[in-house]
Amino acid sequence: CMGLKIVAKFGGTTLAGGGRMKHLAYLVDDMARENEVVVVVSAMDGVTDRLIELATYAEKGRRGQMDSLLRKIRFQHLKAVKEGISDEKIKVVVERKVKDILGELAHVLAGIAQLKELTSRSRDYVLSFGERLSASIVEGVFKDRGLKVSCFTGGEAGIVTDSNFGNGRPLMDVSRHLVRERLTPLVESGVIPIVAGFIAVDQHGVYTTLGRGGSDYTATILGVALGADEVWLWTDVDGLMTADPRVVSSAHVIESISFPEAVEMALLGAKGMHPRALEPAMEAGLPVRIR
Ligand code: ADP
Ligand code: ASP
Ligand code: MG
Repeated sequence: CMGLKIVAKFGGTTLAGGGRMKHLAYLVDDMARENEVVVVVSAMDGVTDRLIELATYAEKGRRGQMDSLLRKIRFQHLKAVKEGISDEKIKVVVERKVKDILGELAHVLAGIAQLKELTSRSRDYVLSFGERLSASIVEGVFKDRGLKVSCFTGGEAGIVTDSNFGNGRPLMDVSRHLVRERLTPLVESGVIPIVAGFIAVDQHGVYTTLGRGGSDYTATILGVALGADEVWLWTDVDGLMTADPRVVSSAHVIESISFPEAVEMALLGAKGMHPRALEPAMEAGLPVRIR
């Protein structure tokens, strides 16, 4: 039977801990039996907010608050490694990688604290750590399940943006070319690429971000570049809803909605997705499902 090519993005709400990540491994294993799958991950729940706070502490030179929040982030990720990975060898490798990434984060923050200066460029560098950490852990959890995977940052996967830090716009021609060149051979040979959402690089190779909620955007950029059949955005609600269910208790799932209406909702402030995430999908007629 003919499978589909699917880009599956997992939001931070679905990555809250190692146990949840194991469940994602099960879902992806199941999807990959009949389909070609590319996975996009957000940072673990709450981590991007914490990184923003960290950057602010660093800018003000508040080293005490910085160190205590850094410890929380460290604990949160190492706990996910412990809970999500059973195989000792895989666990040791991932733990090492996570500690290395956290070491780099501590260095960057120390630099910002020393200068007491936070630029939009250094802020994006700080924000890049959330997805780099989660993608590395998810890679380990998936390997633990026996899946064939390969882990990429957004830039490594081929997503290049302008240098508008904090709200990078993808340069679609170059990104399409690089993404195809780097991911297509893998996907065709049965490997599942795991791509860190939200982050990319500019043309000088410097980290950029796509704006808050940007992993959705990563997924549609990859979907269009790879000529996918569908993009699936996995989250903690069953779909796009008439209103934020945390605010309006009578909110219900919208079965189906046109791109222009969904974009209008996003622009009016429905937090269901990134306001520009649907642009590439709409242009390419690529269906997006919220699951
Ligand atoms: P994710 O990490 O999966 O991207 P987000 O927190 O970014 O999660 O978005 C999912 C949350 O968005 C839901 O838990 C829901 O409370 C909230 N939300 C706000 N508006 C909407 C809406 N119109 N439809 C669906 N969810 C919405
Ligand atoms: N981690 C980023 C954010 O919180 C991107 C995303 O989750 O989509 O905005
Ligand atoms: Mg989101």
